Amino acid sequence: MENAISVKNLYKKFGKTVALDNISFTSKEGVNIILGPNGAGKSTFLRCIIGLYKPSSGSVLVYGKRPYFDDEIRNKMALLSDNYALYDFLTVKQNLRFFGNLYKLGDSEIYKKSKKILKEMDALKFFDRKVVELSRGTKQKIAFCRAMLNDPDLLLLDEPTAFLDASSSEWIRNFILDYGRKKKTILFVTQKLDEVSRFNSRLIIMRDGRIVEDTTTYNIYNEIMKSSSILVRFARPVAISMLKRIGYKFDSMESKEVSSAKFYINSYKDVNLLIGKLIKNKAFVLGVDYIEPLVERISKGG
Ligand code: ADP
Repeated sequence: MENAISVKNLYKKFGKTVALDNISFTSKEGVNIILGPNGAGKSTFLRCIIGLYKPSSGSVLVYGKRPYFDDEIRNKMALLSDNYALYDFLTVKQNLRFFGNLYKLGDSEIYKKSKKILKEMDALKFFDRKVVELSRGTKQKIAFCRAMLNDPDLLLLDEPTAFLDASSSEWIRNFILDYGRKKKTILFVTQKLDEVSRFNSRLIIMRDGRIVEDTTTYNIYNEIMKSSSILVRFARPVAISMLKRIGYKFDSMESKEVSSAKFYINSYKDVNLLIGKLIKNKAFVLGVDYIEPLVERISKGG
């Protein structure tokens, strides 16, 4: 099967701002993750692909067609954008019917499909509520449901779990994993390394409007977590004196006891060694946070 997306030498400028700076990219079937700090150009990239933005120069082809000019090709794709694009004055049901009708779906098919998805995300109870009354997380669920109405061959997701609780986020990640196995192409923008680690897929890193790495989720641990740092959270406060004995450099805000500490590591393998030592010293490790060092690293360009 042909590649869904083929982008060559794409530039997108807004006045003097160069949001996309010579991007060339070909998607692979399944999940393609895009990671990058704020302002890297991720949303602009998705909007060029869906056909919302016209490239300043270069070419964007989706299944061989130019999405900005070709309305038909847009029926094969969907974008869950960061602003949700739902009508506040309409109910959830009316919104889904409106957007489903644009794809020429009948009402009963729209309701059947959306009720199934909303039920699984525990959001069916909002079906007859106006969108304006909903929380950000619930709006995100509705927008996700909307994006799935036309069974898109190409699914573009802009931080789909940003405002979701843990169980809904997990549901969406599983859904994406499953969808990626059905000969679909997914372009998935996220900032969360925890999220990245749930996938075994291609990983694109963007910074300053450019693709700076085209790697895999596995390699991120090998390459990108070299001399990095992690935040370890404890269920019960632990003594600083014990942490000093462990042998890893760390930062902490307190002088006697801490409930979390930022450790400096040399490779992802140190995570295991460090946690093992902490547990041996009777620390109860609640979690490890990888997000901050990664975003720092991407921002600095290291
Ligand atoms: P990201 O999604 O990675 O956070 P964006 O694509 O939103 O990054 O933004 C990339 C750059 O383009 C930023 O400098 C942003 O301010 C600028 N930008 C994005 N959209 C617009 C727009 N519609 N008008 C003007 N500038 C924009």
